[in-house]
Amino acid sequence: MKRWNGWGDDAFVYAVPRSAAGFLEEVLGPATPPRDATLSEAVATVPASRLPPHPLVETDPVGRVGHARGQSLPDWIALRSGRIPAFPDGVAYPTTGQQVRELLSYAEQVGARLIPYGGGSSVVGHVNVLPGEAPVLTVDLTRMNQLLDLDEVSHLATFGAGIYGPDLEAQLRAHGLTLGHFPQSFELSTLGGWIVTCSNGQQSLGYGRIEALFAGGRLESPGGTVVLPPFPASAAGPDLREVVLGSEGRLGVLTEATVRIRPVPPQEEFRGVMFPDSERGQAAVREMMQARQPLSMLRLSTPTETETNLAMAGHEPAISWLKRFLRLRSIGDERCMLILGITGSETSVQCGRDEALAVAREHGGVHLGQLFGKEWRKSRFRSPYLRNTLWEAGYALDTLETGTTWRNIPRLLQAIEQALRPGLMDIGERVFVFSHLSHTYPWGSNIYTTYLYRIPANGDPDETLRRWQVLKTAASEAIVAGGGTITHQHGIGTDHLPYLLREKGALGVATLHDLCQRFDPHGIMNPGKLVSRDA
Ligand SMILES: Cc1cc2nc3c(=O)[nH]c(=O)nc-3n(C[C@H](O)[C@H](O)[C@H](O)COP(=O)(O)OP(=O)(O)OC[C@H]3O[C@@H](n4cnc5c(N)ncnc54)[C@H](O)[C@@H]3O)c2cc1C
Repeated sequence: MKRWNGWGDDAFVYAVPRSAAGFLEEVLGPATPPRDATLSEAVATVPASRLPPHPLVETDPVGRVGHARGQSLPDWIALRSGRIPAFPDGVAYPTTGQQVRELLSYAEQVGARLIPYGGGSSVVGHVNVLPGEAPVLTVDLTRMNQLLDLDEVSHLATFGAGIYGPDLEAQLRAHGLTLGHFPQSFELSTLGGWIVTCSNGQQSLGYGRIEALFAGGRLESPGGTVVLPPFPASAAGPDLREVVLGSEGRLGVLTEATVRIRPVPPQEEFRGVMFPDSERGQAAVREMMQARQPLSMLRLSTPTETETNLAMAGHEPAISWLKRFLRLRSIGDERCMLILGITGSETSVQCGRDEALAVAREHGGVHLGQLFGKEWRKSRFRSPYLRNTLWEAGYALDTLETGTTWRNIPRLLQAIEQALRPGLMDIGERVFVFSHLSHTYPWGSNIYTTYLYRIPANGDPDETLRRWQVLKTAASEAIVAGGGTITHQHGIGTDHLPYLLREKGALGVATLHDLCQRFDPHGIMNPGKLVSRDA
């Protein structure tokens, strides 16, 4: 069953090897496991619903707790402490576009706010209920999960937008087809959520970002219905798909989406390469990208992330042997690991592998074969479960991300890490920080940073949240001052909203605000997210 206060299926626990626990104690100090509130304790805090009855709206408190928050660290702090400031007054589970229209009308009539909800995997506050006078209706779209049309001739498939990743892939695989969109949250995120947050799959290098995969669909908004036909291309003015992409539930509910699919590639492999240092690793990755090599993934860890991954793997004798072997090849403590994915026909995989490994060798990279690649593939959707285990041991973990040009990558990466590392020094707490580049382009790359700190020994949720606020603010300021986008893939929600103006400018933000008003004249759609009313 889906965990109500953490990530994933509660039947799976990511066990941390003893050596890995020792590593964390070494870098952060020993931690104290916090006491989490139980579901019954959280349910007991749910107030009476303010919504008048409607046949599609359920008001049971368990469903309202389950839709109150997403997956950001502040969301976890609220859920795990049982101190959740606001709940939806009701949750609806429509199965048709007609029912979505009924719910939009109902929300307008009763003066409610409406939050579309996919998998609830947002990490920036997108689905959170904000305290306020108006009642809130959350519309859970996961029952709109059917394959509605498969056009095998044109390689297009239309789905109900609430379909989860594994169901979507299973439906396509039955026909030998794939979408190839695999965010790390794949298990518990939906097609509609991917589109309206501009999400990015782990192999977007080969398959394309969701912007490239989203061909069209149907948006039900308070102002009317927008139908986006799946033209291969069109010169009829600005593309309205671009308006829906990244709209974060502010314009309406995406009920159907048509996506560009392809046959399942016959071959796929993931390989590891170790570089002597970040500089040479980045130069190799940039060269691979600028040569337009046929790869489906490149993930380059910094030396600290490389060391952490090796320590967390837990196979101490094998890792010691590897380190000795690498030293003989002149690769020491500054080593950094690249996992590269190659996907396609037998010939293109062979060609991609040969070309990429030749570039890696030129930059001092040592090919490690497929072992680390296979490990990565095995845990590609499992690693977020580690966050549950770490929390329960007393460590809070958060991630943040940006994107910038190649020229700016080393400087910005350093600025983000340097903003985070001393962030809690005034209270004598350490922050453990590491990063990787995992979505690369010929022109630049994302930077994806993970940071951990201790939950206070008394478990105080206010202090855990305060520590997060200090760190998040420091990193976000470093990002916008250092020439990065405030988000390369997670979206704006509430957490990045204070930085949007600096990225888009006053006219840009005002234009977004006007768009919201056009689609949603009475301001019922997911207010307080993406763009503020008083911008
Ligand atoms: C462990 C973990 C790993 C992650 N990995 C990645 C990753 O690799 N790449 C990445 O890009 N992101 C990642 N994310 C972030 C998150 O999964 C994405 O933002 C995802 O696209 C959200 O999809 P969802 O269905 O869960 O949407 P939700 O979280 O339910 O909603 C997100 C926003 O979309 C709106 N919305 C949802 N469905 C609809 C709809 N049908 N119509 C209109 N509005 C709608 C909501 O109102 C909200 O504003 C990760 C998150 C977690 C927790």
